[in-house]
Amino acid sequence: MDFLEHAEDYRSLLPNVTEDGKRKWLYPLKPSGKWHKRRVWVTGILLSFFFAMPLFRVNGEPFFLLNFLERKFILFGVIFWPQDTIYLLLAALIFFVFIILFTVAFGRIWCGWACPQTLFMEMVFRKIEYAIEGNASQQKLLNKRSWDVDKAWRKGLKHFLFIAISLAIGHTAMAYIVGMDEMKRIVWEGPAAHLSGFIALLAFSSVFYLVFSQLREIACTIICPYGRLQGALITPDTFHVIYDESRGEPRGKKEGSGDCVNCFKCVASCPTGIDIRNGIQLDCVNCTACIDACDDIMRKVGKPEGLVRYGSQQSITHGTKPKMDARKWGYTGVLSVLVGIFVVLLATRSAVEATITKIPGKLYTTTQEGNIQNLYKLQVINKTRDSIPLTLNPDDSFVGLELAGGGTQWLGGSEKRDLIFMVTVAPKDLKGHTTPLSFTLQAGGESQHLAIDFAGPMVFK
Ligand code: SF4
Ligand code: SF4
Repeated sequence: MDFLEHAEDYRSLLPNVTEDGKRKWLYPLKPSGKWHKRRVWVTGILLSFFFAMPLFRVNGEPFFLLNFLERKFILFGVIFWPQDTIYLLLAALIFFVFIILFTVAFGRIWCGWACPQTLFMEMVFRKIEYAIEGNASQQKLLNKRSWDVDKAWRKGLKHFLFIAISLAIGHTAMAYIVGMDEMKRIVWEGPAAHLSGFIALLAFSSVFYLVFSQLREIACTIICPYGRLQGALITPDTFHVIYDESRGEPRGKKEGSGDCVNCFKCVASCPTGIDIRNGIQLDCVNCTACIDACDDIMRKVGKPEGLVRYGSQQSITHGTKPKMDARKWGYTGVLSVLVGIFVVLLATRSAVEATITKIPGKLYTTTQEGNIQNLYKLQVINKTRDSIPLTLNPDDSFVGLELAGGGTQWLGGSEKRDLIFMVTVAPKDLKGHTTPLSFTLQAGGESQHLAIDFAGPMVFK
């Protein structure tokens, strides 16, 4: 195996690029061991959620929807409209601070245990590859071999399954954006009826197929910006997969050597091709494959497991446990404040969002009696799933109001409606070219005040 034999090589050479700049295909050993079993369970749960979530509904609405096109978002059954941007920004901010705090404390645990890229790559696509093309060395031989019937059916079946799963991921991703019903409609009614939807589905699925069949570890080591943040986030107390050099060095099998027998099994197991013995590296996705590989060797040579294990630089050097430092406390404080604000805002969110605008292009009119009239539009959005009765009344007794369709209107759950209304004011009550007026919108048990500037002729008093 052509690993980077000299420790310093890893600073100047990439494990998946040849010296003349070509892609070097990686053939990681098939993982097995207690950490791998745990990851299989976690992956099973997370991927079940990923595929099942678009199927869940609450009162006829999706449980989770990220409809960027119509700017409608449903997070765990709670509907957010374009007017709720503040909640979505806050939710995004909380997510990023959480990710940062999590990374400071636990390193790239997200990458190894929860990132869809790693889960699909290592737990789905890679497993299909092992099942059809054999272990790492059999795959290598198959790729070097000239084409024959055996190679053709193995490659054909593998890529057929890769495409089928990429299509399943692409359709699920689409269902998160447009909802399951719309996604089904795009599929059943075909490309002629939904050309843009069909192109989007095809683009999603093609990107997934390309990532999992070709890009692979490059998505984590070069493309993903989260991985690049590691250098700025990790501290000596950050928890990650680490090699215990105090125990392992000097490497070798001779008398007096450390516990590392320099077998390179940890390197051969690594899906990003790195040597964990070179220390914490940006390319490590914390997949735990090297822990299982090294534990297996330790058992065989009769030494304690854990030469490669979860730990922190500090815990390796001083034999201490990872602890909370000022940076972790700081992030925790910021996160707590953000979550607190979010909860308060959510608890006090009004059930109906309402805005009044003047009908564009319409000037004020004068009635036969000489009163001034203006036409307005009341846009209302019901943020709840229940029907709500609405009434709009002026706050001043000299203001006349006529709502098209009657005095009380029922707004259905999640409904958005434009209500037109006429406001009439006698000239003697006008304050100038514009007169500030206010109205009370009664929506179920809630009331809110809405203001307008009523336009009229110039009045000199
Ligand atoms: S170094 Fe170990 S934990 Fe990191 S990516 Fe490689 S095998 Fe996974
Ligand atoms: S698997 Fe363990 S013993 Fe073998 S080279 Fe890696 S760290 Fe050393």
